[in-house]
Amino acid sequence: MESKRVLITGAAGFLGSHLCDRFIAEGFDVVGMDNLITGDLRNIEHLFKLKAFEFYHHDVSKFVHVPGRIDYILHFASPASPIDYLKIPIQTLKVGSLGTHNLLGFAKSKKARILVASTSEVYGDPTVHPQTEDYWGNVNPIGPRGVYDEAKRFQEAITMAYHTYHGLETRIVRIFNTYGPRMRLNDGRVLPAFIGQALRGEDLTVFGDGSQTRSFCYVDDLVEGIFRLLNSDYHLPVNLGNPDEISIRDFAEEIIRLTGTDRKLITKPLPQDDPKQRQPDISRAKAILGWEPRISRSEGLERTYAYFKNLPPEELNRTAHRFA
Ligand code: UDP
Repeated sequence: MESKRVLITGAAGFLGSHLCDRFIAEGFDVVGMDNLITGDLRNIEHLFKLKAFEFYHHDVSKFVHVPGRIDYILHFASPASPIDYLKIPIQTLKVGSLGTHNLLGFAKSKKARILVASTSEVYGDPTVHPQTEDYWGNVNPIGPRGVYDEAKRFQEAITMAYHTYHGLETRIVRIFNTYGPRMRLNDGRVLPAFIGQALRGEDLTVFGDGSQTRSFCYVDDLVEGIFRLLNSDYHLPVNLGNPDEISIRDFAEEIIRLTGTDRKLITKPLPQDDPKQRQPDISRAKAILGWEPRISRSEGLERTYAYFKNLPPEELNRTAHRFA
C-alpha cells in the first residue's frame, strides 16, 4: 500500500522535528517545511538521507505549493518563546495569520486534513484554573505577548471558518508548556535557561518572586497526543499538556538538584503580562483520545538534561539571543 504523505511546517523546530521523527517511524512520507528563522537544520539532519523525507526551505507566510499528493498537514511553524516574539513580532503575527490562511487554502486544494498548533496562550493570564477548552481567556491584545496570542486566536477562528464554510477536515490542539531535547538553549524559555545557566556555572534567574506556576509536558507525550488527535474525528480544540503544576521557584530548585550545581537562585524583574498560573484541564483529551501523559517530570528532566549535557561547549556558551 502506498504511504500517506504529510506536510509538517516548522519541521526544523523543537516540536516539528519530533513530529517528523514520529511520522517517519509510523511509515509516512514526510515533507518538512521551515524558513529556519527559529528552526535549526541540525534537528532534522539525520532525516535527509531517508527516501521518505524531503525538505522545503520556505516561509509559509508566502504562497505554499508542494507538488503531488498531500494527505495531512501539521502547521507547527511559529516562534514560540516570549523572547522570540518580542524580537520578531511581525513575523510571529504573519505566520499565525497569513501562514495559516495559506495552509488552509493549500489543504483545501489537496483535500487534506489539517491540524493546527494552537496554544495555552489563547487563555492569556487565565482567571479560570485549571483551564478548560470552554474558557475564552484573558488576553491583552496590545501587550508584548499579544502578537503571539492574537495570531493564535485568529488561527483558531479561521480554521473553524474553513471547517464550517468549506467543510475542511480540521483539528486544533492547544499546547501547554512542553520540554525536551532540541529546545534551543538560548531561546529564553525557562527550562533551557535554567539548565544552560547550571551547566555554565551561573546563578539561576527566577523572574519575579517565582510563585507563578507552569505545568510541563515531556515532548514524547505531547507527540503521542497530537498523533491521536490527527487520527480522531474531533474538530473542536483539545488541550494537551501535563497537569502536574509547579511554581517556577520550585522548578528552579529541581534543576539545581538535577544538575548538582552549587549556584543559587537570583531574582530578575517579572516580564509584563507573565501569566500567574497555568495548568491544563485534560478531561477532553482523556475522553476523546484516551490520552494522558505517561512521563513524569523527574524522568523527562533526566532525559532532557542528558541531551543538553552532551552539547558541544561552543553551543553552551552561545548565550546571546539569535536576533540580538
Ligand atoms: N522564567 C524565569 N526565568 C527565566 C526564564 C523564564 O523565571 O530565566 C519564568 C517566566 O517568567 C515564566 C516561566 O518561567 O513565568 C515560564 O517561562 P517560559 O518563557 O518558558 O514560557 P511561558 O509559559 O511564560 O510562555
